[in-house]
Amino acid sequence: MPTDLDAPLPAAAARFSEATCRAMPLARALFETIAAATTDGVGMAREPYSANEQTASDLLEARANELSLHVEKDVFGNLYMTLPGCDRGAPGWITGSHIDSVPSGGNFDGLAGVVSGLTAVAALREAGIVPPADITVMGVRAEEASAWYAGAHGGHIGSRSALGILPPAELDSAINTRSGRTLREHMAEAGFSPDRVELGRGTLDLARYRGWLELHIEQGPVLERLGLPVGVVTAIRGSARARSCRCIGAYTHSGAVPHEYRSDAVLATVELVHLIEQEATRVRASGGDLTYTVGKLFTDAGLHSITKVPGQVDFCLEYRSQERVILDHMADHARSESARIAAERRVSFELGSFSPQDPATMDPGFRAALNRGAVELGIPAMDIPSGAGHDAQDFVHAGLPSAMIFVRNANGSHNAKEAMDYADFELGTRLLAWMMAQ
Ligand SMILES: [Zn+2]
Repeated sequence: MPTDLDAPLPAAAARFSEATCRAMPLARALFETIAAATTDGVGMAREPYSANEQTASDLLEARANELSLHVEKDVFGNLYMTLPGCDRGAPGWITGSHIDSVPSGGNFDGLAGVVSGLTAVAALREAGIVPPADITVMGVRAEEASAWYAGAHGGHIGSRSALGILPPAELDSAINTRSGRTLREHMAEAGFSPDRVELGRGTLDLARYRGWLELHIEQGPVLERLGLPVGVVTAIRGSARARSCRCIGAYTHSGAVPHEYRSDAVLATVELVHLIEQEATRVRASGGDLTYTVGKLFTDAGLHSITKVPGQVDFCLEYRSQERVILDHMADHARSESARIAAERRVSFELGSFSPQDPATMDPGFRAALNRGAVELGIPAMDIPSGAGHDAQDFVHAGLPSAMIFVRNANGSHNAKEAMDYADFELGTRLLAWMMAQ
């Protein structure tokens, strides 16, 4: 439930508020220093396993050393900065996000989560709060690999390597779109150990951790449109993707062939897309969580002309939902409707298989605690699904309970114009610090 930002805070909440406020110069300095050191003139250019990504990591590490945190790095380049807790043997929180960016990206996508972790740790120190167990802030490498590497791979290289869930074949199938070389070569050239991925064991001992917490900017417009600074993520949507769909009809004369003899691939595909929209609207109206996108839709302009009935349409189809059952339902729907349309319109559809990515549900107990914390700290917040993928999903899939805090952000993300208000970041960080003190 939204709360009133101007209401007086109880003493405990005021302590978190003051401490986070005093730690904010650290956050601003980190954002600004890293941005200045890793820009390509348009936006951020923190390519996975590049000099710029290393520079960002080094600047974070230097600040961690100034805070007297215990610093470690793994063989995949991930950075770990730990504040000791009361019981050093008890499972503690691990928090953070990714250091890298998309090409000419924004400064806050990913980096906000690492800076927030360091700022929260500094705030706890400032407030004289020793957490019950260690808090580790992780700077993750190469989450945005999909933006830089073509070929069959799932991105999120740093987190999946550390968790031991990265299929080694992806190191060779991921090809850098600029250099033409493999991810394995780039990772090795940066001084890390791709061969270690082959062992499939990872480097993180999950028994040491109570859960993963990730603060991230919202990459959609919801918080901004609803006027709320912070969101508590319910789940990261999974997806079902058919990348190479095709409708095959027949090229014929556009004037000479009456409609009852045509096999018009464009009209058949349009009917399918229209039915998908109708079904998706019905699912959403009944409370189901769903986005759907026909991200490519084209005829071959070299073969088609204004005097031809179109004989072929290629398209792709993506569904995302927090619920696997909805993804399966929509894939079944597309298959059955395309079969029916094919029979009626004398065409054939080749949808191929829908590649599945399971949704990652955030831990219900962590979510409840974050919502309680937001109320206690006087932070207006709402539950919100994540449509974009994050490192948190890898922790969930590896079996570690996880939660995410979203911070309002204007102008979308994966572009240089993303705009997070430091006041909103401070509120998100205050909630993170509160959570990690529990
Ligand atoms: Zn991100």
